[in-house]
Amino acid sequence: MTSNTQEKIKEALGKFTRKQLMELDTCSHCALCTKECPAYNSSENPLHAPGVRTSKTVKLYDKKFSLWSKIFGEKEITQKEMEELAESAYHCTLCGRCRESCPFGFETHELWIRIREIVEAMGTTPENVARLAGLLDETMNPYGQDPDTRLDWSFYVDLDDVPEEDEAEIAYFVGCTTAYKGANHEVAFSICSILEELGENWTLLGEDEWCCGAPSMMAGKVEDAKKYAEHNVKILEDKKVKKVITGCAGCYRIFKFEYPALLGRKPNFEIQHSVEFLRDKLAEGKLDLEKSDERIIYHDPCELGRLSGIIKEPREALSYLTSNQIEFHVNGIDSKCCGGGGLLQGVNNDMRLDIVKIKLEEALEKKADVLVSACPACKLAFVDGAREHGIELEIRDIHELVAKKLGVLEE
Ligand code: SF4
Ligand code: SF4
Repeated sequence: MTSNTQEKIKEALGKFTRKQLMELDTCSHCALCTKECPAYNSSENPLHAPGVRTSKTVKLYDKKFSLWSKIFGEKEITQKEMEELAESAYHCTLCGRCRESCPFGFETHELWIRIREIVEAMGTTPENVARLAGLLDETMNPYGQDPDTRLDWSFYVDLDDVPEEDEAEIAYFVGCTTAYKGANHEVAFSICSILEELGENWTLLGEDEWCCGAPSMMAGKVEDAKKYAEHNVKILEDKKVKKVITGCAGCYRIFKFEYPALLGRKPNFEIQHSVEFLRDKLAEGKLDLEKSDERIIYHDPCELGRLSGIIKEPREALSYLTSNQIEFHVNGIDSKCCGGGGLLQGVNNDMRLDIVKIKLEEALEKKADVLVSACPACKLAFVDGAREHGIELEIRDIHELVAKKLGVLEE
């Protein structure tokens, strides 16, 4: 291995903040997080345990920065060590359950992203993830689709009005997994239909919408995420929007919590997940919907619930739609992951489908009529999982339930 690569790795290791170094150093390997980790519980491979990830990282850090390395010289990081760190870093859905179970309250989500940056510097990013990062560069979406086709979903669902205004009060940021994945086209249609029903002054961004940048961050390319943040915020501020809504938990989280840090300032608009917006409109009596008695079970998307704190809003919205809301045994801030996050699909899709099975089976046991979520990545995981495991269950996004009640989406 060239000394250049070792220098690059050292530079990446040197990016840990003091707080993160303290967290890595304090980790007692108590394994409380391991018990809650969906990736480890699926594989039982020690490399996939969060506490093993921290210890492997500390070992590499010490090779370059410990007192002994200063006295006796730095040690070379081996190919095996690099491959093991990559294996560990990417067998993780970035669900944040480890953060909740850690007695020291470590900010594991940020730690895992930083470790993926180190893996990127090592050049051991899994092939499919590296390919995704390349596609993003070319097409501004992680699916490698022609950017000109970003609005094509609107043809597939026969959306009558596709506003692309120069200025508007509200912008609907659709997100790549909604725009480019067929299972989610009706989610976009439903959100547009709700905005129309409410008579809002709103717009889409069309081809000017770029990926939110979350996949770049998850692939350890934080600088790339900054490029997407700068572009999207400029387009939205040029349109003078007061509010941006998105139905994607990942887009919401990066807009709300990462964009200010990436840009060094707060954007000049409010960001809301569309389920917050929906809850407000239902509470104000602006949407008159007939309540049913369907048994509806709500799955908290990790990026919306645990990592963003939007937990009561979807439940309040659902209370206007059904009198028969039921819950997973573990829910809210503790909710189990569906397997759909962290780019796991590109690294180990079997694991993703294994993780989602647990939730699908619980929904069946609880005799749910409909399994509902508020994130396109979750819906995709549930739809793929149900197909893979031969599970018959209606899977919907919460906005689709509303569109059905408005009579614009077929039963
Ligand atoms: S974020 Fe989730 S998948 Fe990743 S280590 Fe923590 S608990 Fe496991
Ligand atoms: S729960 Fe916290 S201290 Fe324990 S192994 Fe996990 S990260 Fe380390």
